[in-house]
Amino acid sequence: MNGHIAIAIDGPSGAGKSSLARRCAAAFGFVYVDTGAIYRTVGLAALRRGIDRRDEEAVKALLPELVIEMRYNDAGEQRMFLNGEDVSAEIRLPEVSICASDVSALPAVRAYLLEMQRKMAREQDVIMDGRDIGTVVLPDAELKIFLTASAEARAERRLKELQAKGVEADFEEVLRDIRYRDEQDSSRAAAPLKAAEDAVPVDTTEIDFDASFRLLCSIIRDRLGVSEREGQA
Ligand code: C5P
Repeated sequence: MNGHIAIAIDGPSGAGKSSLARRCAAAFGFVYVDTGAIYRTVGLAALRRGIDRRDEEAVKALLPELVIEMRYNDAGEQRMFLNGEDVSAEIRLPEVSICASDVSALPAVRAYLLEMQRKMAREQDVIMDGRDIGTVVLPDAELKIFLTASAEARAERRLKELQAKGVEADFEEVLRDIRYRDEQDSSRAAAPLKAAEDAVPVDTTEIDFDASFRLLCSIIRDRLGVSEREGQA
């Protein structure tokens, strides 16, 4: 539409969206945009201020004070900055996940972040992942994928990710967080998590990361008629 291609990947927490989208973006030469990181940054700001994250007026009042930037380093990694501070590691903490889910239920927050996300898709070819990319942010995306896996499989993967980063967590706690976020993300009135009608459903419960990656690559090739950059397949 504007000369750039957009691929929307939506799905619940821990379905593997980020890792898969990042790897597909590298393979096809797209920019990867992790929209959850933006909500996490707002959630972190609310947490730091100690304000009630469900109080829409209080969170809304905070928004104009926040300078949220998404920058890419030389390795092409997305980094998040909050008022000039690199918060990329801190926004991954489990308590920030919950705050992100809380603030993301507020229509004022979603409206505030909508244009930032659309602008990124206007300026470059993107693979953007989130909850409402195919339904609200980029309804005209050339390809939409809805990625799911069982809550247990997702908790298992999230636990491994946290452990790899040296963050202490236990399975039951991670599963509880995932269920809390599933319930909240799916039942909220503002842009709930749901598959767009024209999304391709992909369930990764029974397949590992490499198989999921190959499956997504074949969907992207078939649907968009593009091919991987040399050496990336
Ligand atoms: O994807 P991630 O788990 O990092 O997202 C953190 C939280 O941000 C999610 O639980 C969800 O509530 C919210 N989110 C959202 N819309 C998006 C991306 C994330 O509501 N497009």
